[in-house]
Amino acid sequence: MKNTIPSRLPINDFVSEIAKGNTVILAQAITLAESKLDEDRELSEQLIERLLPTTGQSVRIGITGVPGVGKSTFIEAFGKHLTSLKKKIAILSIDPSSAKTKGSILGDKTRMEDLSRDPYAFIRPSPAGITLGGVADSTREAILLCEAAGYEIIIIETVGVGQSETTVRNMVDFFLLLMLPGAGDELQGIKKGIMEMADTVVITKADGENINLANQACADFRYALHLFSESESHWKPSVITSSALEKIGIKETWGLIQQYVEFTQNNLFFERQRERQNLIWFKENIQQLLIQQLSKSRTITSKIKILEKQVILKTVLPSRAAREIVSDFLSS
Ligand code: GDP
Repeated sequence: MKNTIPSRLPINDFVSEIAKGNTVILAQAITLAESKLDEDRELSEQLIERLLPTTGQSVRIGITGVPGVGKSTFIEAFGKHLTSLKKKIAILSIDPSSAKTKGSILGDKTRMEDLSRDPYAFIRPSPAGITLGGVADSTREAILLCEAAGYEIIIIETVGVGQSETTVRNMVDFFLLLMLPGAGDELQGIKKGIMEMADTVVITKADGENINLANQACADFRYALHLFSESESHWKPSVITSSALEKIGIKETWGLIQQYVEFTQNNLFFERQRERQNLIWFKENIQQLLIQQLSKSRTITSKIKILEKQVILKTVLPSRAAREIVSDFLSS
């Protein structure tokens, strides 16, 4: 881990190079934010705090969908559209599967080839081998670093499996769900909860023989979304079809996002959501730090082991066991 930072620049140099948009230094600062070493953590936090006044101005977009739905092809087409408008975009990914399999679904180097050569785009794959909590923290920090480096649109990509959607939802302004045409939602493994989080649903691959299926899926999703109760933002999610290969539905997606930003800035939801997300970040860290502290105490970890057995044997209620651990920890 120690060698991942080639050189630790003085903090002032980090600040000035990031402000100039130096992508090499930006990448190093993100590596620093991902580091588990205490000294790196300290430097990274100081750096981001210094940069905080120049953050926050971007539109943060989360994009999710099952593997194969067309995320990277869509993001490439969408990203190229944005860079053609001279927008600086950053693409970060959250891929918790990499922690388990040591191989990332999203980290494949051949993805988004055009975009990776585009000077207006910065692409950063998910760090391998860290927990969802860890990746969530470092991605939040990476968002701030990219904003300080002048990126106007930040895309956070995640795979539509498991918990990571909620994590991403809690760090973006706008959440985009990609769905395949012609497969029922149960087939796509998308839970109702994820659909409820979406600000827009894009039916992908709406080209060739798929067009009718895509239109049908569009109508089905519009109906399904219309049954949900109104979201807190009062924004009514749209469903559109897109073909990343034929560049259909790409401009429209950006148009919807712009409308959403304007709408939620006017009704003040935009700012409220960001404030809430910062509080979630704060509280999640309190929990993580407390758990880390607990696991540092030998007496507590051995007591946890004993209580785990009792929980399995059903001789103690899990909630009571947890309370016992916390009260022991507090009095230790
Ligand atoms: P990801 O796993 O969600 O990132 O999906 P990919 O972007 O890698 O796409 C999976 C497959 O779908 C690839 O073979 C793509 O060529 C294909 N694909 C992606 N977008 C489109 C599209 O707009 N139309 C068609 N026909 N195929 C597409």
